[in-house]
Amino acid sequence: MENVTNIVANELCSGCGTCNGTCPAHAIHMDFTPLGRLIPVIDEKVCIDCGLCLRVCPSNGLAEIRKAAIDTEFMGDVVSAWFAKSADPSIFENAQSGGAVTTTLAFLFDQGRIDAALVVGQEKQKAQYRIVTTKQELLDCQSSQYTPVDLNSALPELADFSHVAVVGLPCHIEGIVRLKNLFPERYSNIEYLFGLICGGVLAQSCVEVVKRIGQKKNGPISDDSRIFWRLRKYSNYKQAKIAFVDRKGSVKTLDNNVRLSCKVHLTPPRCRLCLDKMNLLCDIVFGDSWGITGDDTKGGGSVIITRNAKGQALMEEMLANKSIVGRPCPISEIAKGQHLAEKREAIDGTVFKKEIGTFLEREKGTTAEAVAVICKKVSKRAAWKRFTGKIRKLLKIG
Ligand SMILES: Cc1cc2nc3c(=O)[nH]c(=O)nc-3n(C[C@H](O)[C@H](O)[C@H](O)COP(=O)(O)OP(=O)(O)OC[C@H]3O[C@@H](n4cnc5c(N)ncnc54)[C@H](O)[C@@H]3O)c2cc1C
Ligand code: SF4
Ligand code: SF4
Ligand code: SF4
Repeated sequence: MENVTNIVANELCSGCGTCNGTCPAHAIHMDFTPLGRLIPVIDEKVCIDCGLCLRVCPSNGLAEIRKAAIDTEFMGDVVSAWFAKSADPSIFENAQSGGAVTTTLAFLFDQGRIDAALVVGQEKQKAQYRIVTTKQELLDCQSSQYTPVDLNSALPELADFSHVAVVGLPCHIEGIVRLKNLFPERYSNIEYLFGLICGGVLAQSCVEVVKRIGQKKNGPISDDSRIFWRLRKYSNYKQAKIAFVDRKGSVKTLDNNVRLSCKVHLTPPRCRLCLDKMNLLCDIVFGDSWGITGDDTKGGGSVIITRNAKGQALMEEMLANKSIVGRPCPISEIAKGQHLAEKREAIDGTVFKKEIGTFLEREKGTTAEAVAVICKKVSKRAAWKRFTGKIRKLLKIG
């Protein structure tokens, strides 16, 4: 039998944690690479060669999900599509997009239809899975964590609950669907799969990069500050800044171009090759309202796609109950706003060959070396983007 060693060796691991969350021998733990990808580390002395980790790994048989993506123009099954917002101001205010994910979970809690939700929060500037059981805890886990999280390492802890909803990136959801197919009884308590649209994560060392650049601009940033990767409160939705908020609530911000420039250097190879941006296997997918006509760019909103009868019924209930306010929106607008046509170029990965090569080369050195080089490059590129942005504004282009 094989384990997932070859998946990791071939740079196909997304760090989803499914292998870790299912290994019957507890032979796996997750660790960071020098640049900050999350990968499983296998204790071969403890491994009993059962092969389960490989069977449930979403990167094993990647071809199948890639084919499903290509066959559906990267969009997957669609029952209905919406531009929507939470009707609850306390949720909308703290949300990444329109607060639709948190509202959906809160709705299910209020109705007694779930007793736990698997979501993601932030711990010591790292994304961390959390199993929450109340609405208040949900609010603490709002906003997107763009650094890697091994969500599915939480699977054993979910056994304590009867009705569970999961919010995950496409690779997380793919892992859970595999498990549900293999062990329908064991995972029957996972009743709702809510997916996020995913343009890729940033390796964990981006935290060091943004902090260094942020400190140059703003002075010291404490290690206990929470990082909001895209906080619209301090600008508008489209140019939402990075914000560092310390324990006393004081806020330091950094231009959005810095995060975008980090993407060039710190997007892991697996994300470069990923075609499942639209979370094909979930019940409902949620994303930012890029490209939607009439979108209020100051406040922003969510796009929501229901993928099956279960997701559609839930969406209809929330609209009827006025938990969510929204209107249908054309799927073509979502596809355009998410740049799905560009996925076609990435099908064979050659378009990102250089970036992938440079990323892997940097993985051979130390974190400190890589961070120093990337800081310089990111600062330079972000300054250039700011400059060209101003020129475009002056000339009224775009
Ligand atoms: C890595 C990443 C890449 C993304 N890329 C895109 C994109 O390309 N296009 C797009 O339209 N949208 C993208 N999104 C989704 C978008 O940023 C919002 O998360 C989504 O619209 C939900 O917003 P909301 O206001 O409804 O949720 P909120 O009310 O803000 O709640 C956010 C929910 O997402 C969960 N969450 C946060 N981070 C993670 C994570 N890393 N893994 C799993 N769950 C998480 C939280 O636990 C919470 O339940 C991405 C999100 C992430 C995390
Ligand atoms: S082969 Fe089985 S025992 Fe070995 S790491 Fe994978 S799941 Fe664990
Ligand atoms: S299951 Fe997830 S974490 Fe484990 S090897 Fe596969 S992709 Fe990586
Ligand atoms: S781009 Fe794909 S592999 Fe990367 S985090 Fe998103 S779903 Fe996972």
